[in-house]
This record gives sequence, structure tokens and C-alpha cells, in this order.
Amino acid sequence: MTRDTDILIAGGGLNGPALALALAQGGFRVTVVDARPAPVRAEAGFDGRAYALAIASVRLLQAIGVWGQVADKAQPILKIRTGDGHAGGGNVPFFLNFDHAEIEEGPMGQMLEDRHLYAAFLAAMNAAPGVTLLSGETVVAQAVDPAGVMVTLASGRSLRAGLLIGCDGRGSGVALRAGIRRIGWGYGQTALVTAIRHDFDHEGVASQVFMPSGPLAILPLKGGHHSSIVWSEADATAAAIQALPDAEYLEVLRPRFGDRLGGIALAGARFTYPLSLSLAERFIAPRVALVGDAAHGVHPIAGQGLNLGLRDVAALAEVLILARRRGEDVGSAVALEDYQRWRRFDSTALALGMDTVNRVFSTDNPLLRMGRDLGMSLVGKMPGLRRHFIREAAGLSGDLPKLLTGRPV
Ligand SMILES: Cc1cc2nc3c(=O)[nH]c(=O)nc-3n(C[C@H](O)[C@H](O)[C@H](O)COP(=O)(O)OP(=O)(O)OC[C@H]3O[C@@H](n4cnc5c(N)ncnc54)[C@H](O)[C@@H]3O)c2cc1C
Repeated sequence: MTRDTDILIAGGGLNGPALALALAQGGFRVTVVDARPAPVRAEAGFDGRAYALAIASVRLLQAIGVWGQVADKAQPILKIRTGDGHAGGGNVPFFLNFDHAEIEEGPMGQMLEDRHLYAAFLAAMNAAPGVTLLSGETVVAQAVDPAGVMVTLASGRSLRAGLLIGCDGRGSGVALRAGIRRIGWGYGQTALVTAIRHDFDHEGVASQVFMPSGPLAILPLKGGHHSSIVWSEADATAAAIQALPDAEYLEVLRPRFGDRLGGIALAGARFTYPLSLSLAERFIAPRVALVGDAAHGVHPIAGQGLNLGLRDVAALAEVLILARRRGEDVGSAVALEDYQRWRRFDSTALALGMDTVNRVFSTDNPLLRMGRDLGMSLVGKMPGLRRHFIREAAGLSGDLPKLLTGRPV
């Protein structure tokens, strides 16, 4: 039976487009089906939603031809500071500081706004001859047979492919329909996300302050005087804060934010994200693979969610492109097994690591606070260990797929 496309990707958020571009570079015909109408997201104004992209992720974006479109809109992360705080406790002393000068590769990462990243993906997909994007369409059914996979869309259209990849986020329907179970739990925390304008230049410093109720990340945006915040609070508290008018919201934030950056004002829309852990028990099934949040939705404490997804993208693109060169079928079980072996342990370990960090840090228990503060000061005094953490945050450690080193497959 003829195939309409080699690979069908369900989900055109961020990992879906990155994977489509990487696979098209390797010679595949790829169709991306995304439930959201593309123009709505592409035309978004400044709203403060932004990602901390590790060096390795930036290299992948370079390798798939996207970084050139956004490089001048990104803010290099030159320093990361972490500390321990209480609302109203004054500016916190930062006891763990990381400086990009400690590694040769340059800035540890880049802050990039969602609107710029998505617009660049959209332009690149439209320009790539091998990629077809179907926006405003939803995958509702899938049926696997020995020769391929038949995917049905809500509009009634059916498409036949050799492989179906679920990039459809934490509630992945592709995983559900393939019989892949998930484990996970809610954190009882919600992230409040917005953009802040401040008087003083942030100088490329990203900071993370651990409050008893959850971490507050202050992430520098391009231009020096705006930062994006990811502020975690217990669910009920977050709902109450989100319901406040802007001026009162700012009053609650101010004692947590401190005055290191001078006066502050709200500068973007206000979003909330309920925080949970959601891990797929397997990343593959016959003619199916999961990538990004569909495989592992993690706590945003270390800003690693998208970076983890882009690692999946690089690994899966590499095994599929190599399988194609060997003349194997794109849905070959061997290639999919290689992908799962490469990614499952790494991402599950990282997800559970972030889970532990969140538990140890979102507490007022004096013993735990003392233990972790001691641990942080010790790490701060050991340059070798500090460099290790910087390389981890930059995504430079482990068995890296080629695209994460900036090389084509
Ligand atoms: C508060 C917060 C801050 C974060 N900060 C960072 C950070 O600094 N750095 C970082 O690396 N990560 C960060 N993350 C994580 C990052 O946002 C996610 O990991 C990433 O967006 C996941 O992308 P995705 O493409 O896998 O899934 P999603 O972005 O969830 O996209 C899924 C897509 O699939 C589509 N879809 C769903 N079902 C269907 C269907 N049946 N048919 C067709 N389409 C479908 C949806 O419309 C959507 O477009 C943060 C997350 C949160 C909540």
C-alpha cells in the first residue's frame, strides 16, 4: 500500500517542528499535524513566555537551520545564581554561583521567547520541501499493521505513514492509543509566569531563589531590562495570586523578587501552569515513538523540559536517518529500540532528579534547609564539581547525538 508520507508527527508545538526539520534534512517526507491554528501562535505579541536553551539545544537549532532566524533575539545566560529565600526576607545571599567563564564553550545557554522560536520553526517548516504542516487538524485514531500505520484526523481525512511520532504533549493521545501507560503525580504547585520590567540591567544573570512554597526563577530577556519569571506556589495560593489585579500581584511578588534590579513593573500577560510529573512507561510501540513532553513532562525547576525534548529529537532523527541509509523500513523495531535505549534512562533519571530537587527545596523543614544549604556552599567551593554542574546545565555531558554537537547526521 502506498504511503502518503514517510513519517507522521502528531503535535506541532516545539519538539514536533524541530524533529520534522531534522528528519527532512535526512531525506524523509514528513507530515506534521497540529491541533492549533498556526497563524494564531505565530502572530503572538510579547508575552514573557521564554525558554532557557542549553548550549547543546542551540547547536541543534543551528544544525537544522533555525538559529540564524532567532540569534539576534536571544539573551546569552552569562551567570546563574541560586539562593535560599523567604518572602520579605530581603535580598537573598546567593551561595551557589555559576559563571560561563568557567567553561570554554561560552554562555551556558540562551534565553529565547516562545513567540520568536515558534515563528522561526513555522518559517523553516514552510520553506522545507520535505515538510507538510496541517494546522488546525487533530489526530483522533491510529491503526498499525505490518506495512505501516493509518492515522485518522478529526476532519475525516486519513493518512498512511511508515511511522507515527507522538509530539503531542503530556496528555499524549498517541501514547494512550498505543497502550503506553504513564506514571506521575501532581506537585500541588502551580507556576505563575509573566514578564517583569526592571530599572537595572540584568547583565545576563539568571537567578533561582528557593522559597518554602516553591522556586522563583528570574530569567534574563534580550535588551537588559526585562526578565521572565517562573514563580511556583502551592495551588490554592497561586490561584489567589493570579486572581489579583496587576498592582496587587506586583505587591505580592516584590518582597520575593527583591530589589537587586531596582524598581519593577509587570510587562507581559500573566499565565499559570499546574505542575506535575508525567512519564511514559515506554517511549516506543510498534510503528510508534514518543518525543518531548509526550514521553516525559517534568517540573520546570531547572528549565530542562524543552532541552530534554530536543535531546530526544536529535537521538531519534539520528537512528532513523541511519536506518534509512542502511535501507531499513522507517518503522523498523531495531531503530526504535535504539532510540528508547538511548533516551529512556537519561530522561527518566533527570525527571526524577528534578522531582527530588523540588521536594528538598520546596520546604520549610529546618534540618532539610540546613543540609541543602551546606551542600550548596560545598559545591560552590569546589571548582571541579561546579564545572561539572555547568556542563550538565549546558547539555554538554553524556553520549550526545550528532545534532547536539551542531553536526548533521
Ligand atoms: C512554566 C514553564 C516554564 C518552562 N520553562 C522551560 C525552560 O526554560 N526551558 C526548557 O527547556 N523548557 C521549559 N519548559 C518546558 C517546555 O515548555 C516543554 O517541555 C515544551 O514546551 C514541550 O514541547 P512539546 O512540543 O513536547 O509539547 P507541547 O508544547 O505540549 O506541544 C504539543 C502540541 O501537540 C498538539 N496536539 C495535542 N494533541 C494533538 C492531537 N491529537 N493532534 C494534533 N495535535 C495535537 C498541541 O496542540 C500542541 O501544539 C517550561 C514549562 C513550563 C510549564
